[in-house]
Parts: sequence; structure tokens; C-alpha cells
Amino acid sequence: MERRQFKTEVSDLLHLIIHSLYSHKEIFLRELISNASDALDKLKYRSLTENTSVDGELRIDISFTEGDKRTLTISDNGIGMSHDELEENLGTIAHSGTKRFLANLSDDQKANSNLIGQFGVGFYSAFMVADKVEVTSRAYGSDTAFKWTSDGHDKYTIDDASRESCGTTIVLYLNDEGKEYANRWQLENLIKQYSDHIAYPIYLAYDQNTYDDKYNVTGSEHKVDKVNSAAALWTRSKSELKDDDYNEFYKNASYDSENPLFFIHTKAEGATEYTTLFFIPAKAPFDMYHADYKPGVKLYVKRVYITDDDKELLPTYLRFVRGVIDSEDLPLNVSREILQQNKVMSAIRNASVKKLLSEFKKISEQNPELYTKFIEQYNRPLKEGLYQDYANRDELLGLVRFKSTSVDGYTSLKEYKERMQSDQKSIYYITGGDEQTLKNSPLLSSYKEKGIEVLLMTDDIDELVISSVNKYEEIALKAINRSSAMEDFMTEEEKKQAKEEKSELAEKIKKSLGDRVKEVKLSNRLSDVSAVVVADENDPTVQMQQMLKAMGQSGMESAPILEINEQDPFVKRIAESKDKDFIDDASSVLLDQALLSSGVMPKNPSEFARKLHSLLAV
Ligand code: ADP
Ligand code: MG
Repeated sequence: MERRQFKTEVSDLLHLIIHSLYSHKEIFLRELISNASDALDKLKYRSLTENTSVDGELRIDISFTEGDKRTLTISDNGIGMSHDELEENLGTIAHSGTKRFLANLSDDQKANSNLIGQFGVGFYSAFMVADKVEVTSRAYGSDTAFKWTSDGHDKYTIDDASRESCGTTIVLYLNDEGKEYANRWQLENLIKQYSDHIAYPIYLAYDQNTYDDKYNVTGSEHKVDKVNSAAALWTRSKSELKDDDYNEFYKNASYDSENPLFFIHTKAEGATEYTTLFFIPAKAPFDMYHADYKPGVKLYVKRVYITDDDKELLPTYLRFVRGVIDSEDLPLNVSREILQQNKVMSAIRNASVKKLLSEFKKISEQNPELYTKFIEQYNRPLKEGLYQDYANRDELLGLVRFKSTSVDGYTSLKEYKERMQSDQKSIYYITGGDEQTLKNSPLLSSYKEKGIEVLLMTDDIDELVISSVNKYEEIALKAINRSSAMEDFMTEEEKKQAKEEKSELAEKIKKSLGDRVKEVKLSNRLSDVSAVVVADENDPTVQMQQMLKAMGQSGMESAPILEINEQDPFVKRIAESKDKDFIDDASSVLLDQALLSSGVMPKNPSEFARKLHSLLAV
């Protein structure tokens, strides 16, 4: 017998599971059944790709003993585990991110046991209901079996054992918390509730009393019933499925406690034959913004599970989608490399994207309330699509939503277009900051006066995304915090004039500020402020530069353009002054306060304060 210590993270995890995740202890059964089903998938896959046959029916068997020493046994004839696999799979945590994740979990989240399954730690949930667990397993192709035993504290043992054929048998020695599960009705209900759509039959064994015609117990009979429907849900026809069926399937497969926002079930026949069943979770997956997010779509070939870990099945901007792709035409032994170049796969992928986007559109038209919920979660990933997926850019432009100066909540570009004034040349937007900062931007006032709507781009990626889009239905998208936006409000004559005529005042301030600004321009769109900073056409805005810097990217620096308001009293004082010290200090303060009002810290705050003070003291 070998005695081993759990890896420390397993001990921590066990402790957490046993002490914090108690609220839904019954999920242990779903976890163990799901592992058994995975093991059966793996065996089926092996035998199909290696052209070997499987003895007997692939199945899951559940039995229990009542009385003083209650046990529950879950057994499968799947792929099984070797000695090393027992140690590897049950003595360590498979996913390296798990421990870090656990450390960051809030107490609230710890109470949500649905998270267990998401992290590949499902097996350990057995210790919520058992004070000892025995796993006897024989790997496919091997003739030796081993027994892993642990009480869920810090040690486990591995012994030689015997098992007739390959597969795994797990015996739980139920504790006080778990003894209620040694019961036929409990088990049957739980299996129906959580594991109905497991593609393999789940058999429950129990003893039933026999009676004579006077209802006296005459003995007992051993019975075995199949308790789940054992058909992959997506293969069934839409007409025989209810919303509830879809919702339960989703919750079970995705470890979510909430129903999905909506689902899309498609059977394609014709050149390529496949079925897809997609779900949109009510809440964005917690790892949606992690680089190592777990993809949510599983690939099956002719009902045989192939992979759940392929990020290529859908484009990254649709990484929040959960569900299944089941193809009739792919070979079973597709490798990841083959998948990426496979024509069938790329046809399925393209059609799936089109289907998803058109369904989103339909919902936006038919169920605005639902669409708002969708947008609250997934607006940002859809925006990523605008620069990732050129082929579907028009569809995506129709789907994304923005905050705006004219409406509460979200608006689409289509709605903006409908509200445009008859002589309005462009769609205007402002980037760089949260909704409140943007709403207070001094740049907005002249648009407000003209009654022109401005989109408030509050997502950090908006500037990147929109500058790569440029147009919506032939209408230019223009950032009002860029110098060119001013030109829309000038006649040709004025534009020419502005180019030729050098303003003496602008030159004076430019000379004083030197390299700190790219250019100084007289502005025709400032009413209640002295100056603003804007970016030159192809430069990143100051806010963008600030963001890039915070992300550790330097080298993107470029000086802003300073737009000044000739009518402003402070600017007038600069125009009239001949005192070089005053002109220098005042120009510098003019620039710094323009930066400040767009949410950017002046380069040298203490100098700004000093100069401001000296100006005020005069
Ligand atoms: P996950 O299922 O997410 O990988 P679990 O904690 O549920 O994580 O299981 C850990 C691992 O133990 C599985 O990945 C699998 O390799 C192995 N395992 C668990 N149960 C079985 C089983 N019945 N048959 C074969 N392998 C199993
Ligand atoms: Mg599992």
C-alpha cells in the first residue's frame, strides 16, 4: 500500500469545499455522473478511432446500501484510470489557474457551488457527503486495477485491486450530511433533475419489497431501472422540446444556476450536415476578459464527444456563447491542426457566426427588453468583432450599442441616423472616459447648442474599434476630440482662410508652449471654456495615450492640438499681453487646464499649481 500526501492546493480546496460550499451538497452526484459520462465518451472515441470494439453497453450504474453503514456506488465501464492517472487526476488539481482563482473568490462566490464544476475540481465534491471515498479503476487496455482511498483530509492511499473490465467504480461512505442519498427516490429525482440528458443510460439498482394479495411483505426483489432519457438533447426535434428542457440542459452542461437569456437550435441539412445548439448565458462568463478563458462550445462528431477546449470553433469575440456543434461530416479523429484547416469545419463556423448574428438582430427588433439585457453583458465583445471580423462588420455595426447625449440608455447607429439633422454631415462621437466625464466635456457644448447628437464612447476599446470602422452606411464617424471635426462646421471659404491665414495669437501661444503641443488653432466650437485639447487626425487621443501608458506601452506619445477660444477673457489677456513671463505662464496654464478637463493629469502638476497661483495672485 502506498500512502501519499495531497498536493497542498488539493488540501486547501478540500477544506474549502467541505466548509464553504455546503449549500448545494447534492451537486456531488451530477459531478460524479458527468465524470463517468466523460470516461464513456473517451472510451467510445478510442474504440471508434482505433477501430476496436467495445464489450457490452456503455453505461453508468448507481446503487446504494441502507442501514447503519450507508454507501453509494457510482460505476461506469468507461476508459478507466491507471495507477499514475489515479494519482495525477485525483491527487492534484488539473487546472493551474484553480488555486489562484480560489484565492480570489469572494465569500459570496464561495457560497455558489456551481463554480466547483467550472474549475475541474468536481470529483472532490464527493467529500461534502462522504467521510471516505474509494475509487477502484482499471484503465482501458490494461489488465490491472488499483484502488484509491481517501478520507478527504490530507492523505490518500493507492492499493492493488481487481476489476473485471475497464472502467471506474466509486464508493462513497456517506456521512451525516450524505446519508439521505442512500434512497431510491432521492437519487431518481436528482438524476432526472441534473443528469437527464447525459447521453448514456444511467441505471439505478434498488431492492423492492414483494407482497402477497393481502399486502403482506413476502420478500424483496432486486430491480434495476434506467432513470434518464439518455438522448443527446440537440439530436431531438425542436417541436418535441420545451423551453424547460433546453434550460435544464444548459444549466447542467454549463454549471450555471440561471437560465440562459436565449438559445438557438439549428439543424442544417444539405452540403454540410450538422446540428448546433447555442446558449447565451444571462451573465457574462467570469473569465470572458481573461486571456486564458475557457471556450464554451463543445464539438461532437456524430454524437461522439471530441473536444471542449478548442478556441477556434467560434471567433473569439463570440467566446461568451455556450453550447454544442455536432457534425455528421467530420472525421472522428480530427486533430486540432486538422480542424483549423478543415473545410467542413470552417463552413460550419461561418454559418454558425451568421446564424448567431442574425438571431441577435432578430431579438433586437422583436424583443428590445431582452436585447438590452444582452447588450449589458456582451456589447464589448461584439465591438471586438468590429475589428476582428471584417466579413461581418456591417451586421456587427447594426448590433452594437452606444450611450448618447440624446437618449437615456443605449442607442444604435441606425437610430442615431434617423435622428440626424437634415444638413448634418457626420456621426459624431467622443471618447476617453466614463459617461459622466464625457457628458461634462467642454467640447460638447457647441454641439448641444446646435442640437446635434454626440455618441458617448465609454468602453476602453471604443477608440481603437471606431477608428478602424470609419463609416456607417456611407456616413463618416467623426471624433469630436479630433481636430477635423471642426471642419464640418466651416464653409469651404472659411476652411481655405483658416489654412492660409495664420493667427497671430495662435502662433504666439504655440511659440510659448513649444513641443508640448503639435499645433494651436482658433476654435469655432467653444463657447464657455477657454481651450480644449484634441488629437490630430491619425494620432491617439491624450486619453488613449494615458491608457496605453498604464498598460505599459510607451512610444505612442504625440503632442495634442490645442484649440483656443478667442472670445474668452483669459485668452484675450494673453492676446493683449507683451510680458513674456506672463504669456509663458498663462499659455502653460491654458494647456494644463484643458488637459485636466478631459481627465488627463498635467505632466507636471506642481508646476501647474505654482503657475496658476502666481496668475491668480496678480
Ligand atoms: P474534471 O472532470 O473537470 O476534469 P474532476 O475533478 O471532476 O475534474 O475530475 C478530475 C479528473 O479525474 C478527470 O479529469 C478525469 O481525468 C478523472 N476522473 C474522474 N472520474 C473519472 C472516471 N469515472 N473515469 C475516468 N476518469 C475519471
Ligand atoms: Mg468533472
